[in-house]
Amino acid sequence: MTKDNVYPMHNSPRCTAHSKRTGKPCKSPAVRGWSVCRMHGARGGSKSGINANAYKHGGRTQEAEQLRKLANEMGRSLSALINDGSI
Ligand SMILES: [Zn+2]
Repeated sequence: MTKDNVYPMHNSPRCTAHSKRTGKPCKSPAVRGWSVCRMHGARGGSKSGINANAYKHGGRTQEAEQLRKLANEMGRSLSALINDGSI
């Protein structure tokens, strides 16, 4: 047994991140179900929807973007039908 493996927790999976200054691996224990530790982004993420800090007016939410995409698609297909002379 080496000094690094004194307790079973020392055998847990390690973080795969590397330091941007030294290039050496992080060595912290990885969060269960993740390949990185708590300092390197496990369980992270930003709030979405109306709770996001960048939320201003709702015009850029996923729902609004999908609706806009659908409306543009319908407009394009309608103008294609008009240009074909079908309508
Ligand atoms: Zn880490």
